[in-house]
Amino acid sequence: MPRVCVIGSSNLDFTVAVPRLPRPGETVSGGQLVVSPGGKGANQAVAARRLGAEVRFVTLLGADLMGDRLHATLLAAGLPPEGLTRTDEAPTGVALIAVDPDGRNQIAVAPGANHRLTPERVAAHAGALAWADVVLLQLETPIETVRWALREARRLGKRTILNPAPARVLPLPADLLPLVDYLTPNETEAGLLTGQEVIGVEGARAAGRRLVSLGVGAAAVTLGADGAVLVDAASSIHVPAFPIAPVDTVGAGDAFNGALAVGLAAGGTWEEVLPLANAAAALACTKRGAQTSFPDRDQVETMTTSFRTDYDLKRVFAESAVYCMGN
Ligand code: ADP
Repeated sequence: MPRVCVIGSSNLDFTVAVPRLPRPGETVSGGQLVVSPGGKGANQAVAARRLGAEVRFVTLLGADLMGDRLHATLLAAGLPPEGLTRTDEAPTGVALIAVDPDGRNQIAVAPGANHRLTPERVAAHAGALAWADVVLLQLETPIETVRWALREARRLGKRTILNPAPARVLPLPADLLPLVDYLTPNETEAGLLTGQEVIGVEGARAAGRRLVSLGVGAAAVTLGADGAVLVDAASSIHVPAFPIAPVDTVGAGDAFNGALAVGLAAGGTWEEVLPLANAAAALACTKRGAQTSFPDRDQVETMTTSFRTDYDLKRVFAESAVYCMGN
């Protein structure tokens, strides 16, 4: 089984649908409260687990009722209890989200315990890095922790994926990029990392080349409905998105990253792994929510066999030993 170690955030998301987003000082009355598990780390760990990988997730929850709830959800998703640590130094991370009828949102985040996930706390779980085939990180935990994990993974000879999200914490300290094997920005993030606006496939190729020149092994730039572009030192490929009718794109990037980690941990090539990641992300767009929307491997297989893009996906998956296809 592919082994993925995810180190990152867990949040409880409180979402209210409102007729319009409130202006400063204004109160808007909305619909029923929806409480759902989130945080990029947790989302990506659950996405990878749902595709059948063995996943170890290292995160920090508060010693409060919200932490109890997330703990139960993560266990139910099949993540082992060891990495799901608790602290009474800060409350569980929370996101307060208002969404209007056009799908625009306003989000206030209280990172809480996520900002206490220090290198020391992660080092207590260094065995999870040594165990993994691929280590997957995001930017909702302290940057020192990301740096420590990237260095430790490199020392252990493990491949790393850094999803440089959320965009608001960019750009990154320059020393981080050479520690990253695979960087997975969306267009906005790629623009902030390179200082050049990124539009479309050609923009993504240029950004990818720049990121490789800054030291990353490869960059997979995600382009929403245009799929993704992968650039490494030798080549660049564009893998179109699957033609779906999106219902809610929340969690698309997390599904992409979780699937990418699973495919790479399974030993897949880019031609195998990118369509897999696009399929998982497209399926995540066909359902509401984040963790609730992530597909299992049967759903991914159904999608890849029922659509064809520029890639001959049937051939790609038939010829590959991509484990997600049922091995
Ligand atoms: P993020 O959610 O991080 O902003 P993107 O919007 O680039 O990232 O989406 C990530 C991936 O999700 C894309 O590379 C693509 O595979 C898939 N995706 C997103 N939107 C769509 C869509 N409308 N149709 C099909 N796939 C989509």
